[in-house]
Amino acid sequence: MTCFAQVRKRPLNKKELAKNEEDIIETLSNSLVVHETKLKVDLTEYMEKHEFVFDAVLNEEVSNDEVYRETVEPIVPIIFQRTKATCFAYGQTGSGKTYTMKPLPLKASRDILRLMHHTYRNQGFHLFVSFFEIYGGKLYDLLSDRKKLCMREDGKQQVCIVGLKEFRVSDVETIKELIEKGNATRSTGTTGANEESSRSHAILQLAIKRSVDGKESKPPRVVGKLSFIDLAGSERGADTTDNDKQTRMEGAEINKSLLALKECIRALDNDQGHIPFRGSKLTEVLRDSFMGNSRTVMISCISPSSGSCEHTLNTLRYADRVKSLSKGGNSKKDVLSSTMNLKESTAQPLSSGLPTASTFEDDINDTWPDQNERDDFNAPEDSFEQEKLMWKKNGKLDQYGFSTAENKLRKPNGQTKWKEPVRSDIKHSKSDDDLNALLQEEEDLVNAHRKQVEETMNIVKEEMNLLVEADQPGNQLDDYISRLTTILSQKAAGITQLQTRLANFQRRLKEHNVLVSSSGY
Ligand code: ADP
Ligand code: MG
Repeated sequence: MTCFAQVRKRPLNKKELAKNEEDIIETLSNSLVVHETKLKVDLTEYMEKHEFVFDAVLNEEVSNDEVYRETVEPIVPIIFQRTKATCFAYGQTGSGKTYTMKPLPLKASRDILRLMHHTYRNQGFHLFVSFFEIYGGKLYDLLSDRKKLCMREDGKQQVCIVGLKEFRVSDVETIKELIEKGNATRSTGTTGANEESSRSHAILQLAIKRSVDGKESKPPRVVGKLSFIDLAGSERGADTTDNDKQTRMEGAEINKSLLALKECIRALDNDQGHIPFRGSKLTEVLRDSFMGNSRTVMISCISPSSGSCEHTLNTLRYADRVKSLSKGGNSKKDVLSSTMNLKESTAQPLSSGLPTASTFEDDINDTWPDQNERDDFNAPEDSFEQEKLMWKKNGKLDQYGFSTAENKLRKPNGQTKWKEPVRSDIKHSKSDDDLNALLQEEEDLVNAHRKQVEETMNIVKEEMNLLVEADQPGNQLDDYISRLTTILSQKAAGITQLQTRLANFQRRLKEHNVLVSSSGY
């Protein structure tokens, strides 16, 4: 699977302009720079630049039409050729997800119908529309008065949403009405408008089906599918100010699903055998869209304002982690205005996706019904070689020596030393919960690491100042010694803390049998 990562920046809105907030996002053709204002210890301001590279960066002047042309139009034809495509909008509430997603399905339907009525005329193709919402881990049909839906998995691990209304459509006008109806149902929830929609994932699916042998008597089979997903606001996870229990639970659920989504995309892109679909309702529902020939487009929406800097950086880091690993030239850079070029680079995964199956072939066989659909997948060894090549290209292996942790996770023949977690047919078994907890802990570890690097850099700056002062004539030796002592113990404390965290995480991995201890690890 390939994931295309694009970023869309919206213009400053009235509220932000009224508050005199600045536009801190500088866009270039396929990269952008976030200018973050930070405070030094002495409270003077300095600018930190974070540069990110994506497949496309769409600035505030780009219209919805252009977004369609850039993101969805190219994938419409391939859904007639046994491919599933999924387009996500990710970002904090108010960043423009709904604004971006809303027009896309209708435009795509128009193109699909055009192809069906011309290129594929009389070939038995039909277009079906469904529209539902995942809210608090439960499914609701937006085309059937928010009827609560159940999900079932058949023997072949095919997920089926029981009772979901699917409408067969053959003209644009009908589709338009259905989409409008679904959108209206979505926004008239209990509290209405953005409040409610920011806590739910809305999923609109266009399925192309074909009657077998042109016989109308048999149910048509799915040929391809195009899904549009307006994800819940990404700020939820970090939002701890909500006191009400229900709200906190929802936040945790959203956090879990966005985390699981990221891990699934990474695992698929990495051609790993085991994909953690069961991490959340969202990923379970999307399982069939991710299997076989599939494409994903992640449109990350960002607000340009200085007040959203933290959220924007979080969104961009998320997007950065889902963007295709196999495309070597697309690595991100983060240029720090100050000395080191380390900051975003530390966002490299501790483990490239959790966890992978030991038996890749087996997994394909019981998950993918169609052998033809295997064409896209390389053996895991190849993908590691590719990845390694890419890392080399980025200069990361050589420059920073970050490769050690990666390499130690691999057996000499290049296979990852993960053990497949115990398969269980009981839904939401204990191991699923454990996996979720592990995914969260991995995220926490990476965040703690990032923070530690940041602190280290501040300490290094202080050290450099101290050295300059030490060279000044008349320098007080007492002062120098006491400051150096403080600095060194700060450094040591930071390292110890991170070491403890890392050791805990490793222990947890072992406890849950995810990682089999290997040589030197
Ligand atoms: P989200 O769905 O991410 O919460 P919305 O799509 O509702 O955010 O956007 C928030 C507000 O910003 C809306 O009023 C929307 O019309 C406006 N907006 C978002 N993106 C753009 C854009 N690219 N150009 C103009 N207005 C935008
Ligand atoms: Mg919205």
